[in-house]
Amino acid sequence: MTDDQQQDDPICALCGRPIPPHAKQSVHHLVPKLKGGKGGPTVLLHQICGLM
Ligand SMILES: [Zn+2]
Repeated sequence: MTDDQQQDDPICALCGRPIPPHAKQSVHHLVPKLKGGKGGPTVLLHQICGLM
């Protein structure tokens, strides 16, 4: 592995790869809003990962 990736990029919770600032991000709620997840924990995903 190379170590040239920026360490402050958020990590996609689905694929484990950094999400570059220019990439589209998707916030995924761990708890569905209908079950009281509003304001609950969220994870960042690549937008493409969130669609799959
Ligand atoms: Zn991803």
